[in-house]
Amino acid sequence: MQDRYQRTIEYVRISVTDRCNLRCRYCMPEQGVEKMCHADILRFDEILRVIRALSALGVRKVRLTGGEPLVRKGILDLIREIRRIQGIEVISLTTNGVLLPEMAAGLRAAGLDSVNVSLDSLDEETFSFLTRRPLLSRVEEGLRALEEAGFQDTKINCVPLAGVNEADVLKLAELARVKPLNVRYIELMPVGCAYEAGLRGMPMAEVRRRLQEAFGAFSPVRPGVSLRGPAEYVQPAGFAGKLGFIDAMGHKFCQTCNRVRLTAGGFLKLCLHAGTGLDVRELLRAGVDDRELLAALSHAVYNKPAEHHFLEPGEKQDSRYMYQVGG
Ligand code: SAM
Ligand code: SF4
Repeated sequence: MQDRYQRTIEYVRISVTDRCNLRCRYCMPEQGVEKMCHADILRFDEILRVIRALSALGVRKVRLTGGEPLVRKGILDLIREIRRIQGIEVISLTTNGVLLPEMAAGLRAAGLDSVNVSLDSLDEETFSFLTRRPLLSRVEEGLRALEEAGFQDTKINCVPLAGVNEADVLKLAELARVKPLNVRYIELMPVGCAYEAGLRGMPMAEVRRRLQEAFGAFSPVRPGVSLRGPAEYVQPAGFAGKLGFIDAMGHKFCQTCNRVRLTAGGFLKLCLHAGTGLDVRELLRAGVDDRELLAALSHAVYNKPAEHHFLEPGEKQDSRYMYQVGG
């Protein structure tokens, strides 16, 4: 499926819940999180119907996210059902890792291909400050459980924050030095409560500079993953895994963007920044047939915006929080 700028859309990120067992400062407020009522969250049969339609239109990869996807009841059943959809080649999941110790093996058995774990700090105090929950050891145990369950291509995503987890830039890279996993540094985006929490992202150039100072000069390598994404990867000498950089605020990857997002409430978002898209839940619950659903989805995707406008003053941002969209 192509949009009006001839970009091929082959990847959907699906937020399966707006609930979470952490309260990361840049993502969720501590108090007063407005939970969607259950009836407003897409049911599994609805999610599956949308995936089937998107796969008929050429989508080949599904990522489950949230909120925290592992707190959604029946997530293993959902993965098993997605696995049966013809045309879906890759199923992955983005998680904070807290529930991985007991769930990693089941996720593997259900047919999940790979897992991205969001982990901003290996220091207990910093982790507890950032997530407002003292659960670092669970995440570390979760990483071990992934390895034991046989997952490969595990990625750790870290948002480097000025004055908060700067030391973790090197500590996390150390994991990729000794193990075949990829550590990716993601720029803080001005979404949700990131800026009101007083957090500022470290400039990516500074992140790279510190890594090169510690591990020697590096240059880009091909990621060797199933479908291309926005990260630029490097592999310093002696590293078992790779380091990746996601410069979210630059417009670098808008031109090759291959994805759309489905929120927990069933809204098809065409760009992380923009509020525009399609209310798929309304269509489904109004009783559209498959032909109408395909037509509505392909029409919406065709109109995907050319690029985001995060950096432009006065530009209207989507008011949804990251936990509602899924990152
Ligand atoms: N709960 C899961 C997790 O944390 O991996 C999945 C959902 S979470 C919203 C997905 C990703 O969004 C996480 O890696 C998190 O670090 C990132 N994120 C949330 N708010 C962000 C922001 N303002 N800027 C950059 N990344 C953000
Ligand atoms: Fe939860 Fe993920 Fe948001 Fe943290 S980033 S509060 S783990 S949804």
